[in-house]
Formats: sequence, structure tokens, C-alpha cells
Amino acid sequence: MTDTDSTTTGPLAPEDITAESPFTLPGFFDALAAGRLMAARCTECETHLLPPRPACYNCGSRAVTLSEQPRTGEVVSYTSVKRPPSAFEHLAPITVAVVELDSSARLTGRVTASLESVAIGDRVELRVCDPETVDIDPEFNLSYEEEWPVHVFDRL
Ligand SMILES: [Zn+2]
Repeated sequence: MTDTDSTTTGPLAPEDITAESPFTLPGFFDALAAGRLMAARCTECETHLLPPRPACYNCGSRAVTLSEQPRTGEVVSYTSVKRPPSAFEHLAPITVAVVELDSSARLTGRVTASLESVAIGDRVELRVCDPETVDIDPEFNLSYEEEWPVHVFDRL
């Protein structure tokens, strides 16, 4: 799969940018819950926008297209977070990595491995979880986030 599959032209009118739009966070998480990792890409400067945005944050262009992303990639940077957000406190310390997907779009996420067992260049695969399966306390979620899936990276 490449990031040129299922290309969609971005919204040109502000009134098209609703919560259902795939160029917003709710739209991004809806697609993710359905198993599709979507990113936008600026056609002017080639910047990947992940999660998608209706305009490029590099050059400001609204000429953005949307495409499904591969789930595999490589760790380009990582760290340990000893005091994560409250909802993840029971999982601390957590390993968080910047992953360059095989499309070259980058996504930050938790890696399901200890800091010591992760290295730059490791191959990882995205997994989408229901918030309940990772035991996140719903008390700590904002109401609109309750149904949003949680993504993690597993080492390959
Ligand atoms: Zn751009």
C-alpha cells in the first residue's frame, strides 16, 4: 500500500469542515476506529499531515489530499515517559516513539515494549485498540474522547 491510494481532495470551503470531515480529529478517530489510518498530504510542499488537517501547517496551502496510510514503519526516535497523562498512569513508565511509516508520514505513539528493548530503526506495526481493552480509566477522558480508539505500536 502507498499513501497515494484512495486519494480524496481536501475541503475547499470552511463550511465543509465539520466534525464528520476526515480532516478533523473526530473524523480521523472515526476512520481509525473503522481500521483506517488516514493522513493528509499537501500537494504544494509534500508535507504529511497526520492526523489530517484542512490546511498545511508548513506552507498554509489548502491543496491537501487524504489517503490511507500503511500500518508499518520504523522507530526514528523514542523516550520513556515516567509520568504519563492520568489515564495511562497505571502503565507507567511508558515508551513513546516517533514512528516513520512506510509512506514517510510520521506518527507518535506508545510502544508496547520497555525502553531498554527498543532501538532506533526497529520495525513496528500500528495496532488500534478499544479504550477499554487498554484499561484506560474513563473518568480521565473528556466526554468526546470516550469512544476514540487508542493506537499503540508493537515491535515486529
Ligand atoms: Zn504545504
